[in-house]
Amino acid sequence: MTEERQSRVRAVLEKRQPDLTVLLEHVHKPHNLSAILRSCDAVGVLEAHIVALEGRPPTFNETSAGSDKWLPLVSHETTALAFSSLKARGFQVVAAHLSAEALDYREWDYTQPTAVLLGAEKWGVSSEAAQLCDAHIIIPMHGMVQSLNVSVAAAVVLFEAQRQRLEKGLYAGSRLTPSQLAKLEFEWLYPREAEILRERNEPYPI
Ligand code: SAM
Repeated sequence: MTEERQSRVRAVLEKRQPDLTVLLEHVHKPHNLSAILRSCDAVGVLEAHIVALEGRPPTFNETSAGSDKWLPLVSHETTALAFSSLKARGFQVVAAHLSAEALDYREWDYTQPTAVLLGAEKWGVSSEAAQLCDAHIIIPMHGMVQSLNVSVAAAVVLFEAQRQRLEKGLYAGSRLTPSQLAKLEFEWLYPREAEILRERNEPYPI
């Protein structure tokens, strides 16, 4: 393990934003999922969430550029369970949704704990999710086509969140607790050893 590798891992972990995430509702195409995780990694999302289609576990392809390795994707069985889990952790859920009451996406305050909900390519956000969420946001469209590709929409919103968070100094110091930081640093630097210790139910040497 080189010192350079260690400092790179530490620098990336110190930018992770535990209170910014995405919730993907039935987004299943591997290239879209992969592109979304890559954008999540770029802005420092710590973990992403998905309600997967029944019988279709999430899969990735080379579009992820390996970002799926650094970003856990937590699966929820239903939309309602995903909402209750995120809400219990203090997240507001804002749906990227082309509805009549949607706010311009730049009007939302992403410096508060926020999960950005994105809908499936074909169906969009479900009516259940649209009702459960705290607000709808829209990326204004002035072309002939009504919507963006879901991964593009995710990137646009996530980079607005990054802009607001940079302005507020939320990337200036680690947002993880010292024990979270040490645990993740060990897992990222020594993934095989970490896996063996987890299987044996033994503590990490941190
Ligand atoms: N036919 C679908 C609909 O009516 O919602 C279009 C789905 S769109 C291809 C996939 C997802 O990308 C949407 O559910 C939404 O989350 C996001 N999205 C795409 N364009 C958007 C926009 N202009 N504003 C907000 N979200 C958008």
